[in-house]
Amino acid sequence: MSDNECREWLSQLPAAFLAKREDNHHVIANSACLMLFGAQLQHDEFVASLTFYDGSSKQPDTGDLDPFTRCATSDITRLRLRINSQNRNLNCLVEGRRAEIGGARWVVLHVINAQDNDLPSAQADFSPLANHLAFNHLLSAISSQLINVSTRQLDTLIERSLGAFGEFSGVDRCYLFRFSPDKLRMSNTHEWVAPGVTPYKDELQNMAVGDLPYFTAAIKQQHVFCVSNVDELPGEAASEKAEFQRERIRSVLCVAVHLGDDLYGFVGCDSVGSTYEWRDHDIRYLKLIGEMLSNTLQSVANRLTLQQLTQQLEDANKQLVYQANSDGLTGIANRRQFDGCLEKAVKSGIRRGKFISLLMVDVDLFKQFNDSYGHGVGDEALRAVAHALTQCCKRTDDLAARYGGEEFAVILPDTNFEQGHYVAEQIMEAIESLGIPFKKSPANGVLTVSIGIATRRCSNELLVTSLLSSADQALYKAKTEGRNRIASA
Ligand code: GH3
Ligand code: MG
Ligand code: MG
Repeated sequence: MSDNECREWLSQLPAAFLAKREDNHHVIANSACLMLFGAQLQHDEFVASLTFYDGSSKQPDTGDLDPFTRCATSDITRLRLRINSQNRNLNCLVEGRRAEIGGARWVVLHVINAQDNDLPSAQADFSPLANHLAFNHLLSAISSQLINVSTRQLDTLIERSLGAFGEFSGVDRCYLFRFSPDKLRMSNTHEWVAPGVTPYKDELQNMAVGDLPYFTAAIKQQHVFCVSNVDELPGEAASEKAEFQRERIRSVLCVAVHLGDDLYGFVGCDSVGSTYEWRDHDIRYLKLIGEMLSNTLQSVANRLTLQQLTQQLEDANKQLVYQANSDGLTGIANRRQFDGCLEKAVKSGIRRGKFISLLMVDVDLFKQFNDSYGHGVGDEALRAVAHALTQCCKRTDDLAARYGGEEFAVILPDTNFEQGHYVAEQIMEAIESLGIPFKKSPANGVLTVSIGIATRRCSNELLVTSLLSSADQALYKAKTEGRNRIASA
């Protein structure tokens, strides 16, 4: 029997068959099979376009995994496959075995559409009810994950939800689109495609909403766009039709996704290459997916807003703490911060038996400086002095503060007299090299300071007040000895 005769013979049977002859490897499809895939008149092209994918791994079934190879036994082998063709793509149950037809050896596959609602209940795994239950199961598993989803996992989980719906409905593509805040643009943010189906996400970014007016109106007004056959779209949907045809889409179903009262975007799915009659439960389930995504996006958005508010509050608090502790004119530590810091430094010095040095730094003849150059120039000079002081505080625990008026103080924890004196010299030099002109200055015609230094070993007997008054006395000494110098108590 020739290949053609065998095909005619198989075509008498009221079920879809694919067969491969073992000696010449020719594949034939009977007429019920062509009909199942919507390819009545193009046998050879149809057969050449067939690709097989494993039902669970979604990997292409080639080589040893080819269904004809897997069914080349005398026992019946059952497979769950996705069969793509130039016409329809179908998720199928396949029952295959070796058979002898007209003296030749063939592997014959009985192809059953797993999405068919009329599937005999004997195929329990593929019954609509089992599918519904499986989908519900998946949906509740995903939605419980989505409840506490982190922003990082969100994308993966959205894609999984789309995939769950896609597999359940046997569609070819499933996606989420988001409108721009002004609703003038839309972008495909998440996409799932069935094996062998071209993804379009990367192309569908930042599209002008105005280019698809019929579609957008339906989403905005009816919240659903349900087209079982793209060819039957009305004249006013010409641009939609062109776009769908470009992507080989034959049926589309989209439902709007709202965040509160705001239209966020839409979730949708396509049947590629062949039409698909959307059923009530497809729409119901897609709406459920849409609601689930909207709840998730809403809660993620809420959490994000909360995080931002918390951040703003933290920033405001930091600003407040900074303001409470820093001097308004110079920006360095103020008296309040100085007092707290000195107290702490002495306490920690006691624990570790360390020295502490305190410098009191006072600008020389500043009253006269103000009188000569004005208060504004005086302020500027104080800022420069403050900056120079902080530059001389090299260790992390050192602190320069504005003690009041034109007087500054520097806390040097764990610093003995020699080290403290060294820092004081650095300060004198730094301020002199600022070169702030001052005619009546006690030295070189530039602004100078006098420094009083007190160094003590930290102990329970050491009082912060006595350290302060020692430094103060030393400063007085420096002033009376002629200013522009360092003195110690
Ligand atoms: P001495 O060398 O003995 O310290 O003389 P002095 O003039 O610096 O000391 P006195 O205490 O007599 O004067 C301090 C001056 O510092 C008076 C005050 O106007 C000025 N002063 C205090 N705070 C500020 C300020 O924030 N800006 C300006 N421009 N001047 C200030
Ligand atoms: Mg002074
Ligand atoms: Mg003073």
